Amino acid sequence: MAEVILKEVKKNFGKSTVINDVSIKIKEGDFCVIVGPSGCGKSTLLRIIAGLETPTSGSIIINSKDVTAVDPANRGIGMVFQNYALYPHMTVEDNMSFGLRMNNAPKTTIKKKVEEAAKILQLTELMTRKPASLSGGQRQRVAIGRAIVKGSNVFLFDEPLSNLDAELRVEMRIELTRLHKELGATIIYVTHDQTEAMTMADKIVVLRNGCVEQIGDPLELYSNPDNKFVAGFLGSPSMNFLEAKFDGKDLKVQSLENFKIKKFPSLSKENSKIIIGVRPQDVLLKRSTKGKKIEFVENLGNLSIYHTRLDKNHYLLSESNNKESLLPGEHIQVTLNEKSLYFFDQNSGLRIR
Ligand code: ADP
Ligand code: MG
Repeated sequence: MAEVILKEVKKNFGKSTVINDVSIKIKEGDFCVIVGPSGCGKSTLLRIIAGLETPTSGSIIINSKDVTAVDPANRGIGMVFQNYALYPHMTVEDNMSFGLRMNNAPKTTIKKKVEEAAKILQLTELMTRKPASLSGGQRQRVAIGRAIVKGSNVFLFDEPLSNLDAELRVEMRIELTRLHKELGATIIYVTHDQTEAMTMADKIVVLRNGCVEQIGDPLELYSNPDNKFVAGFLGSPSMNFLEAKFDGKDLKVQSLENFKIKKFPSLSKENSKIIIGVRPQDVLLKRSTKGKKIEFVENLGNLSIYHTRLDKNHYLLSESNNKESLLPGEHIQVTLNEKSLYFFDQNSGLRIR
């Protein structure tokens, strides 16, 4: 187990800054998920922690020791890649013991460590198999086993579930959470998938263009985002954003002419442009004879997602489990749950509270 601290880490590739002043403190035993869109710098950041990439400036501290200049092999880190990088011609046992054998560890030590890891990972029955005859989930466990046997106290995962089908992904999410509890290990896990972040993390770091947007536990980020990006990134379907204008007295939503917002934060500037955020479950629809029209309905069984056209380019998504199901083409009256609205500055994207 280990505590990992990143201090003002920066990475340039040529002229472009890929990681910009990233500072994160990961507690011993935490499951930390770094989440952000493709290309935002997740893999680069993980490679910097592993020592496979040198930061342009800043430092990496593991268990109070500055390891910025320490060789990857001596950082006590195990990395599990998306493709698991197992040796196809080796058995499960040989794959798991590879690192220790390369270091000429005593045979009895190797045997003991591999057996222990196999037991935790429920791989004991599979020790003589080769990767080709294992399922995706089993391969993943072998890759984790290799990291455990190596004596890692921090596990780094780079999008390990993105090659798996939907059903197995759900299974592996639960499995990884269970393993984390059992091992008590510090895990740093990167993904572009907000569901993985929401379901597995103790702590989420939202990364965008190499910058940290917000850090916090899943529900805190979901219910109390600091900015429009975090608000829109976490949650599925995403939060709706509506343009609004403050005329000095009222805050008017441009595309919902009949909806009046009674309570909003104090806005000083006249003509200030505001973005209103509302989650789909807080958009309420009522059958009507005129007004907006529903264009698509996604029926998911236990609930439905309604897409209401607001104007040429915008839809408003509404999620509901109501019995009175609405049909495409029907007119509806839209109201927003006033208690659950978010307000953002249109220019900066920052939350106005
Ligand atoms: P992510 O894992 O979030 O998708 P990456 O960390 O792989 O993002 O990449 C972040 C950015 O850095 C991308 O724009 C990518 O093209 C760039 N990049 C990554 N590695 C290199 C490299 N070795 N040389 C130049 N640019 C790189
Ligand atoms: Mg990546």
